Amino acid sequence: MKPFSVYVHIPFCNVKCNYCDFYVVIKHEKKGALLYSLLREIDYFAEIYHDKGYLQTIYFGGGTPSLVEPNFLYQIIQKLTKIYKYPEDIEVTIESNPNTIDEQKLKEFLSIGINRLSIGVQSFLDEDLKYLTRDHDSKTALKSIETAAKAGFENINIDLMFSIPGQTLDDWKETLRIAVQQPVKHISAYSLTLEPGTSLYYQSKKGIIYLPSIEQDADMYEFTMDFLPEHGFVQYEVSNFAKPSYESIHNLNYWYRINYLGFGPSSHSLWDNRRWHNYRNISRYIEKVNEQKHAIKDEEFLNPTEIYNERIYLGLRSRGINLKQLEEEFNINLLKHEERFFKELIENGFAVVENDMLRLTKKGYLLVDEICEQLML
Ligand code: SF4
Repeated sequence: MKPFSVYVHIPFCNVKCNYCDFYVVIKHEKKGALLYSLLREIDYFAEIYHDKGYLQTIYFGGGTPSLVEPNFLYQIIQKLTKIYKYPEDIEVTIESNPNTIDEQKLKEFLSIGINRLSIGVQSFLDEDLKYLTRDHDSKTALKSIETAAKAGFENINIDLMFSIPGQTLDDWKETLRIAVQQPVKHISAYSLTLEPGTSLYYQSKKGIIYLPSIEQDADMYEFTMDFLPEHGFVQYEVSNFAKPSYESIHNLNYWYRINYLGFGPSSHSLWDNRRWHNYRNISRYIEKVNEQKHAIKDEEFLNPTEIYNERIYLGLRSRGINLKQLEEEFNINLLKHEERFFKELIENGFAVVENDMLRLTKKGYLLVDEICEQLML
């Protein structure tokens, strides 16, 4: 049996941040109906996949899943672990925001089997948090990490963001300096992207706010790639850094193109060459699950070229491409196929080949999109 992951989308948030492109619901009155639908949806897919894989990770994402009661999450974990085989050390992650957790709740999360906590800190500077319209300040962020550690969470991630309007390189350095002093094992550091449809996007279009320039963004990213490893956080993917053996298995599974089932509104799934996603509306989602036990809005079956391109794209963004496996699967010797291009990449320090793995260097990560474009069919 092959490993697979589960993602459960809990869309509730207290406020909608101005840059957020996720499917989020501010009113929480459909909580009960959502839980009922999630359990039904899990049952529906169990009929197809119960003997086809073992469950390696569960990830509660959102939204802000830490807003729901531990019992809500417990019922989902119970159902999944009754249906699927799973290892003793199954990784179960919950996303949270600093002002939605207290010691009691965190202890309850631990007691139901959640063993990895991800906190949406974004910045340790109040000015940045105001620009992002986050509903917490830096003091609350620090307190939440301290509380999580005190409650017994050992595996804590914090999400941080750079290229925030008004943010300077020194501001970002200060956030990172504070971050590495915290009892966290994993740091996700993302550059803010303006997604069409978000209010920050329109503010930028109208010239109300200005993002740091491309050069400033690259400086912040380069600094991150130097600074975090100097403090023991190894970069294992474009945006993720972890203390040794604390890489997120859920993340890695995604980058290795391991199968995953997504439950809840707007969630995505992949099983071999089949990809599908759910309705991005909680009422529609609930209605569809009631009608037909699932809420698939669209699905597609990928052809070998599309799968090959995904392997290139995902591999180069993370730990690299296994050249031997790629050749076995697609009968393409990548190095020979793009001989001149690779010669240049390797000679100029953008990529390395070690033990049949082709991976990008720090310098290469800066050009990952351009390199992928060249290699995809
Ligand atoms: S807390 Fe996260 S999911 Fe919720 S609105 Fe803000 S960015 Fe989006």
